Amino acid sequence: MPQYRAAWLLPISQPPIRDAWLRTDRGRIVAFGHSRPGDFTAEDEIDLGEVAVLPGLVNAHTHLELSWMRGRIPEGDDFDRWIRRIIELKKQASNHGKEVGVAIDAAIREARAFGTALVGDVTNTLATSRPLQEHGMAGVVFHELLGFRAEDAPALMEEAVVQRQAFQSSDLLRHTIAPHAPYSVSPALFALIHTFLQSDPSARSTVHLGESVAEVEFVCHGTGPCRAGLERMGKWDPSWVAPRCNPVEYLDQMDFLDDRVLVVHGVQFGSAEIERLAAKGVTLVTCPRGNIRTGAGTPPIEEFFEAEVRVAVGTDSLASVPDLNVFSELEAMRRLAPALPARAILESATINGARALGFEADFGTIDSGKRDALITVQLDGYVPSIEEYLVSGIGATQISWIPAS
Ligand SMILES: [Zn+2]
Repeated sequence: MPQYRAAWLLPISQPPIRDAWLRTDRGRIVAFGHSRPGDFTAEDEIDLGEVAVLPGLVNAHTHLELSWMRGRIPEGDDFDRWIRRIIELKKQASNHGKEVGVAIDAAIREARAFGTALVGDVTNTLATSRPLQEHGMAGVVFHELLGFRAEDAPALMEEAVVQRQAFQSSDLLRHTIAPHAPYSVSPALFALIHTFLQSDPSARSTVHLGESVAEVEFVCHGTGPCRAGLERMGKWDPSWVAPRCNPVEYLDQMDFLDDRVLVVHGVQFGSAEIERLAAKGVTLVTCPRGNIRTGAGTPPIEEFFEAEVRVAVGTDSLASVPDLNVFSELEAMRRLAPALPARAILESATINGARALGFEADFGTIDSGKRDALITVQLDGYVPSIEEYLVSGIGATQISWIPAS
């Protein structure tokens, strides 16, 4: 039954504890608290030193199967160009088979090295399921469907359900189905995914929403680069009528928004849309570094928190960010929302992500009974505010895992 001592412990469910101790047993946290001098004898404790102990982080939105694209798309200010490049590269993926697999493995290792315990991984090919299992990475595999022609919806859904049945869900890894975005998924397919979610109350889903100006234009008027893209690819459905509203209202009208859905991005949302999401109980996953680098825009982080929507955080894929460091997303959030309490930012990468993915019984806070998926962050010298320090940018060399008990 290992017992640890550390300069700081951040349970997240309560304020940070200075000069803390923590005990784990058979993979679970047993007890923790503030150390008093002479509490332990030398042989029954491991002194971790000048570190902060945190729950392993939650990366609520990534696409590990795109990891081979790292560095292949230049940073820019034109989201349409970025998405065209992704589509081109996706077509080439079959020529890069070995590279794709190697990059997925490396990306899972990298996520782990940056202190990630739990992921929300979006995949079109299911190529990440097995590597996630083999690496013992916890999370939700979101099998993402695209299909804008209403007539294609039944076959797409049928195939996805068969593939889901073939997947062996475990305590650590669950499999579900998700629509890509309103400009790539027909109302018929949204409706079938909604019905699937009704049939499994524990299942989660996710959707890219409010990412680009082009998406908002498309949902409102049926025009712009999204329409042009569908026509270019031969995927436009002439029976579709633009709903003439914002993307949140559109999905709400389809009854798709509830507390099991992770809405990703929200860059284009105003306070009315964010409040509507909050009222529906959805989790808004922000990916600030990726949004800026792809030219989608700057997410209104302060407005997210003002509207009291639950905010989680993701890195998005290595096609749009240079690494899978969730701490760097927290640093970006801090930069974009300087007045926000550091604690709220930390919650987005821990308990909020764990709740959104349905893993709050095991991850997201340091509490008795939860898994001992715990990381340490090395502190460099005097730290006036531990929470502020942790959102100021933490590098891989500072991060270690507490060995599992
Ligand atoms: Zn994404």
